[in-house]
Amino acid sequence: MTELYTTIIGLEVHVQLATASKLFCGCSTRFGAEPNTQTCPVCTGLPGTLPVMNRHAFELALQTAVALNCEIPAFTKWDRKQYYYPDLPKNYQISQYDLPMSQHGHLDISDPKGGFEPKRVRILRAHLEEDAGKSLHDEIAGKGDSLIDLNRTGTPLLEIVSEPDMRSSLEAKTFLNELKLLLTYIGVSDCNMQEGSLRVDANVNLHIDTPQGKVATPIVEIKNMNSFRAVERALDYEAQRQWREWQETKRKLGDAPKQTRGWDDVAGVTRGQRSKEESSDYRYFPDPDLVPVTTTSTEVDSIRQSLGELPATLRNRLETDFSLSAYDADVLIKQGRPIVDYYFVVAEESGDTKAAANWVTQDILRTLKDLNTTIDAIPVPAAALADLIRKIKSGDVPSPRAREVFQAMVENRCDVAAAMEKLGIAAVDESELFALCQKLLAANPKTIADVRAGKVQAIGAIIGQAKKQNPNVDPTRIREICLQLIEAAP
Ligand code: ZN
Ligand code: MN
Repeated sequence: MTELYTTIIGLEVHVQLATASKLFCGCSTRFGAEPNTQTCPVCTGLPGTLPVMNRHAFELALQTAVALNCEIPAFTKWDRKQYYYPDLPKNYQISQYDLPMSQHGHLDISDPKGGFEPKRVRILRAHLEEDAGKSLHDEIAGKGDSLIDLNRTGTPLLEIVSEPDMRSSLEAKTFLNELKLLLTYIGVSDCNMQEGSLRVDANVNLHIDTPQGKVATPIVEIKNMNSFRAVERALDYEAQRQWREWQETKRKLGDAPKQTRGWDDVAGVTRGQRSKEESSDYRYFPDPDLVPVTTTSTEVDSIRQSLGELPATLRNRLETDFSLSAYDADVLIKQGRPIVDYYFVVAEESGDTKAAANWVTQDILRTLKDLNTTIDAIPVPAAALADLIRKIKSGDVPSPRAREVFQAMVENRCDVAAAMEKLGIAAVDESELFALCQKLLAANPKTIADVRAGKVQAIGAIIGQAKKQNPNVDPTRIREICLQLIEAAP
């Protein structure tokens, strides 16, 4: 089926930077405090107060912008974005308008499921601004009151604006996952959506093929999405809604002002809120209370050097140097750098990168969950797991009992040898295996006849008997030896 339309998606992400204090005053940014206990005359906008920029917030913003491959202008300034709302007592938000602290970057995304080719999403700009407070009118059941909590007011946010480069809800979700991964790797934000540390707005419209050529539908900004899953669902819903609306009204981009719609996660629909303000409505002007900020290229270089290995480079290294699938590389990277480092040791010391990935992504991750612990406290150090993998390969640990050995290593915090001793597992050497197979075949002439007649599965009976006589035998090896003996017999 040919597509009737293309969905065009751009995202605006507000990220709370991980500072201890607010952007222009010394108030704490800690989440969960009693309402209005983390405020002062500056962040509540009392007359006569003066803001002073939090240098640490600016540095975190710079780190993020550099990681997003943005250009960092030598000069940036602060502007007042003016609007009236009860949770904004100053009646303006300190933000950045025409000279943002960074612009023209990109973030590359790839789909671990192989659904689309790796693609580049351009970043239009990333600028710093302060957060507003919180109105609590909807949360007081049965009362008409509205309450205001100004604890958030003045919290540093980095607003990251993408170009409209995404073409499906899956690409949008992938972009968000990749961005979150990057931000957590460089440690600039905890990205906790429940606590409001990461908020997403999406701009979406359709490009429709008509006999008269391509037509664009009016752009809609979707708000109130509380999870990446909600973003995905809201975008799918909105694309279909715009398609229906186009068929009914034939309204094009420019025929109606940009609209804001809120996502209702329970009903699974977007609802119209208001016509979107134009930026001229905000009457931006430079904030006279704050000095502009200059950044030298030496500072940018030193930040670039201090960032370390970013997820994209790490993913590339896992796929190229360690021959992992995109999927396995992704599972590892999502666990965070300490687990990737653990994997590196297991892979290098065991000499089997794929087996190492299987053990780490399955058994190690499950063990961490079961024990509710972190990788630095895991009872099986990387070298011990590497040893287990080597011994399975050499046959010193019978592969059917490998998981038992691993479990014993976890429970007793011991090495492979001690775990095997505890379980009473002894490696069976080749001559013992041959002797056992010879004995069993001699006692089962019918099996030999069946195998010779082409019923190879008859060997299963011999394997069963072998396991009964010695639980340590490797069934695959028994099968191989028996077939070999039957073939060699006169
Ligand atoms: Zn304050
Ligand atoms: Mn903003």
